[in-house]
Amino acid sequence: MKAIVDCNSFYAACERLFKPSLHGKPVVVLSNNDGCIVSRTDEAKALGIQMAGPYYQNKEEIEKNKVAVFSSNYHLYGDISWRVMETLRSFSPHVEVYSVDESFLDLTGIDETMLYEYAVFLKHTTELWTGIPVSIGVAPTKVLSKVANRLAKKDKLGTKGVIVLQTPRQQMEGLQKTPVEDVWGVGGASSKKLRLFNINTAWDLRNMSEDWARKNLGGVVGVRLIKELRGEPCIEMKDPLEIKKMIATTRMFGKPVYELRELREAVATYITRAAEKLRRQNCAAKTISVFLVTNNYSNSYEYKPAGFSLYTTLPFATSLTNLLIEHAMPLVEQLYRKGSKYLKAGVILSSIVPDDKVQFNLFEKPSSEHEKKN
Ligand SMILES: [Mg+2]
Repeated sequence: MKAIVDCNSFYAACERLFKPSLHGKPVVVLSNNDGCIVSRTDEAKALGIQMAGPYYQNKEEIEKNKVAVFSSNYHLYGDISWRVMETLRSFSPHVEVYSVDESFLDLTGIDETMLYEYAVFLKHTTELWTGIPVSIGVAPTKVLSKVANRLAKKDKLGTKGVIVLQTPRQQMEGLQKTPVEDVWGVGGASSKKLRLFNINTAWDLRNMSEDWARKNLGGVVGVRLIKELRGEPCIEMKDPLEIKKMIATTRMFGKPVYELRELREAVATYITRAAEKLRRQNCAAKTISVFLVTNNYSNSYEYKPAGFSLYTTLPFATSLTNLLIEHAMPLVEQLYRKGSKYLKAGVILSSIVPDDKVQFNLFEKPSSEHEKKN
């Protein structure tokens, strides 16, 4: 069996975490650039505030109802997402992080008569440890667990945020309640076509033949979807131990940055995050690249390219945060131009090897440079 754990109104929930006075109150989060609503709490949804709607179109409703409005803070959301995923990892050895606020969990080995209780316990523990409310769908396949999750989220009070689609009857009822366009993998465009075939619910789709799916639903992909709806697993969990060959961490700054000190700080933070990822996959990196992105229209009297990067190769592969930062700082200094307006920075760790294969250079002690400086 598989579970999907999905955070409810994730960005808004992150903001509310630090403002307990906003509990039970409407909250929306706006995108950085275009001022669109990217996250709403249930209270804001109840007011009819639309997702992805521009702020100004909802302004009257927002002001009238004293809705709390936040600009997005992706640093914060990334950090809280990490805490949620770490909590989930204590429940299953196999967690596939699907997006910033959603993960699939492999529940193989959990007593099948206790799945509901287990999911409720998982939900409560996650909420207790992180403060972020979640909805959980449990089913034999990924597609069915998404169906379950959607139903749990739609009726949080009635379902207590957990739905298990285990028996054929539970699956049939769940699929009958799900409009076909809400099935994971069915887009708006294909749902229009499905409705022409008089396929209106997920249950109607589940009952189509594999031959039909092969002809009318994108070949192999369609066949897989039908099988998943029937409870036959076809979309496997991605292996979390799959080693990434490159780890990149990059962010837009909340506001433009002019000072070298701030850039150094930002790059050090990104390296810290990248090094954590590196150690989680038991690897070490030998190459660090740093890039800074400027917007120099304001001082166009002097030509400077809009993006800039430099890299350095370490004498040996490492996953030690301090060592990686130490090698990256000279790159930041070389890239920095006083007076430039920096919008974004990033680091990329590459030449990644498993840390049991790290070969130390006989002539370089891993901490020689560090010792010299202290
Ligand atoms: Mg969510």
